[in-house]
Amino acid sequence: MSGAGGPTTVVLRSAYGGRNGFAHVASALSRAARVARIILVEEDPSNLVARLSESGRRVIVFYGVSTPLYLELAGEIERVSRIAPVVVGGPHASGAYWQVLRLGAVAAVVGDGEAAAPAIVESLSNDAAEWPPPNTAVYTGSSFRVGRTVLIDLDDYDPHYPQLGLYPPIEIMRGCSFRCRFCQVPWEFKSSVRFRGVESVARATVEYVRAGRRDIRFVAPIGLAYGSEDLKTPNPSALEELLRAVRDRGGRPYLGTFPSETRPEFVTPEVLRVLKRLAHNRRISIGMQSGSDELLRFVGRGHGVEEAMEAAATAVEFGFTPVVDLIFGMPGESEGDVEKTVEAMFKLASMGARLRLHSFLPLVGTPLARSRPKPIHPLYRKAVMRLLGRGVIEGYWREQEELGKLMYCMTALDPAPTPEPKPLKGAVEYCSGVWRGMSVARLDPYREIVESLVQ
Ligand code: SF4
Repeated sequence: MSGAGGPTTVVLRSAYGGRNGFAHVASALSRAARVARIILVEEDPSNLVARLSESGRRVIVFYGVSTPLYLELAGEIERVSRIAPVVVGGPHASGAYWQVLRLGAVAAVVGDGEAAAPAIVESLSNDAAEWPPPNTAVYTGSSFRVGRTVLIDLDDYDPHYPQLGLYPPIEIMRGCSFRCRFCQVPWEFKSSVRFRGVESVARATVEYVRAGRRDIRFVAPIGLAYGSEDLKTPNPSALEELLRAVRDRGGRPYLGTFPSETRPEFVTPEVLRVLKRLAHNRRISIGMQSGSDELLRFVGRGHGVEEAMEAAATAVEFGFTPVVDLIFGMPGESEGDVEKTVEAMFKLASMGARLRLHSFLPLVGTPLARSRPKPIHPLYRKAVMRLLGRGVIEGYWREQEELGKLMYCMTALDPAPTPEPKPLKGAVEYCSGVWRGMSVARLDPYREIVESLVQ
């Protein structure tokens, strides 16, 4: 795409301690013939990139960004793109690839990064290679193009990258067969669900334990769905096999708790018996999201309130502490829905559950990305004040109330891959207000978009 080239130095830019997020991509890049060196940095790489380029090295800089991180790093991505090819991956790039490309990134990763990253390096060095590479979006100067989709097999890639000391929670499941309209997972991975095999987990565990990391955590959209054949009901023997493999190799497995939370349907007596024997955690994170059946239906959860209550009660019965996720202010939430959710909060607290509270975030790339967040309902504030004294509240619901407005604006000001940004109706006025009211650093490129649209 951009001329012939020799060995490439890849710079991975991590921020806020998110180093582990690069483990899969580093593991894939280390096998790419053209990659001579992988460097991981935790600060603006401009000087490093300039030095490497001056000494004649080919350099490509990779970012991995969620939307909050993108808000922080947008200015830097724009600056670094002027001195070296920049590739941006992560949930924000997947859901709004045109935004990162408008900043000057040469490619945005829109699916499995393990397939995209080595192919991007190859294409940037070899004019004859595929462009856009698989799982990648690019800007041609007049339009946006998205390459073909390639779904990788998790077993083909290590979950960790010891050479850089990256030992993240082991990813045991990617993609989700449910369709919650607020969630990025089913849309990001085209709904395809893949599991990592027990053998691969066992091999990784040996290395984690050898490196002194006995606590083995997993990452999965629904941790207790591991090995499920119909993706709707649990498979206790698959869970047993997984946990045993970790234990037999000296690891202490944590499953069904962050970051491998679960849905109510998967919290059954059979599953809890297995966890009790083999898992190290005594907390189970259960996604309930609302105390209203109507709202659960509206956001496409696919379970009711009763099932979630039962799951929490079963967890308590088996000696686990259920940590129940609830989201305040989901689109379509009525006064009655709020009352029902508050009622559920008190009921759960009296059962012995903890509540992990969230404010609705209009995540990019989801069907609800264009929904403007509402202020937190006063009934929720009152309920939280009363429950705080009982020590059962956790979560970042307060911070997310502000973040939600910014996230909405990211989509509302530039909602689609059109040649020029076409803001949603009323977005410019609303978002210029949001911008003025907040002191978010390094937002200059987006502030400029807003200001130019306001003029
Ligand atoms: S919220 Fe959970 S169950 Fe729903 S789509 Fe996302 S990962 Fe799947």
